[in-house]
Amino acid sequence: MALIACKECGENVSTKAKACPHCGNPAKKETFLRDIFLALIIIFIFFSVVITLRSGAPLLDGNTKKMAINKIKQYPEIIEAAITQKGDDLSLVLIVPANTSIKKARDLGDNFVRMVKSLSEDAPEPGKKIGKGIYRYLIRVNTKQEEKIVLGAKVQTAENITW
Ligand SMILES: [Zn+2]
Repeated sequence: MALIACKECGENVSTKAKACPHCGNPAKKETFLRDIFLALIIIFIFFSVVITLRSGAPLLDGNTKKMAINKIKQYPEIIEAAITQKGDDLSLVLIVPANTSIKKARDLGDNFVRMVKSLSEDAPEPGKKIGKGIYRYLIRVNTKQEEKIVLGAKVQTAENITW
């Protein structure tokens, strides 16, 4: 056990002592480690906050929703269209005539997701695939009588909608 002179009072203090037993001056090593520890905690909290703020998907603003709805309504089959967002989840609903085939309903759903992706920050990938994104999609194509024609979902990591 080595002894060093206290910087405050000059008395001998063990290097392992947390503070000088004569005057109570805290050991330098101890305060240095404590400062590093505090700095690490502050950095950790800072990055935790930054990551938390960044993890949520951006909010689809009313204008983007309106543009996507107007675009999908250009298809003559679309009676009504709606988009609702809850965190990362985007719920897309299309109302079509009762005689719409399952294949046609899926195509319309695919196109609606593509339109939302191209208008939002959830950029589409070129080609046939809808591509990975920042939102989770739930797609529902209904008749006016609220009867379901098709129901689909796409998680962020998926390339396509699962119908
Ligand atoms: Zn001292």
